[in-house]
Amino acid sequence: MKKEFIFLGPPACGKGTQTAMLAEYLHFPHVDTGSLLRAEIKAGTDTGKEAKLYIDQGHLVPVELVARIIKNRLSEEDCKGGYILDGYPRSIEQANALTKMNSEIDGNNDVAFKAIYFDIDTDILVERIINRRSCPKCGEIYNLAYKAPKQEGICDKCGERLSQRKDDTKEVAQERFDTYFKETAPLIDYYKKLGVLKSIDANGDIQEVWERLLKVVND
Ligand code: AMP
Repeated sequence: MKKEFIFLGPPACGKGTQTAMLAEYLHFPHVDTGSLLRAEIKAGTDTGKEAKLYIDQGHLVPVELVARIIKNRLSEEDCKGGYILDGYPRSIEQANALTKMNSEIDGNNDVAFKAIYFDIDTDILVERIINRRSCPKCGEIYNLAYKAPKQEGICDKCGERLSQRKDDTKEVAQERFDTYFKETAPLIDYYKKLGVLKSIDANGDIQEVWERLLKVVND
């Protein structure tokens, strides 16, 4: 049976780092909506141009646009056994779209899924966002406050110059939090009611959170 892992949590709660580690651990593809959208922007596609209008404001891009990208990705061969969804769904409407696309892709809808919620103290998160840097080439994520690269401004993994996301400013971050609480947080209850929600304490360092995550994944 195909295994689907869904991750919920506010911006910069650490799910990007943890889901990338989990993807390696499980040998599952890491389907990260934000990165897929940024790749469209970088490639200068019409989809990217439209998505940029919303991303730069800290708002969700339209549901049909993300659904199209996600459905294409989940239809690929490497997603047959399972995958990790990072940043999708982000609203009840998207959760319903996901159920629909699963049955379109799989016909019999034989998907076992877990939704994992990163429960974290949100006070520290805007600061975390401002200090975040990432590698435009391999996607590795750094934080100047607690996971700095060995050489300033350079990716440890591939040597590329690190960059800061355009929406990682204080103003846009604030808007992203508002969007999260309004659109995404209701999914916590949604998945709780379906009986598939697992919560983990996402406060602490990367290793501590990783150990908690492994427990719920292997549960
Ligand atoms: P992230 O990299 O997950 O922080 O996402 C960056 C931005 O991409 C978000 O602030 C949204 O504008 C957009 N985005 C990512 N995932 C979604 C989604 N599932 N639905 C709509 N917009 C999204």
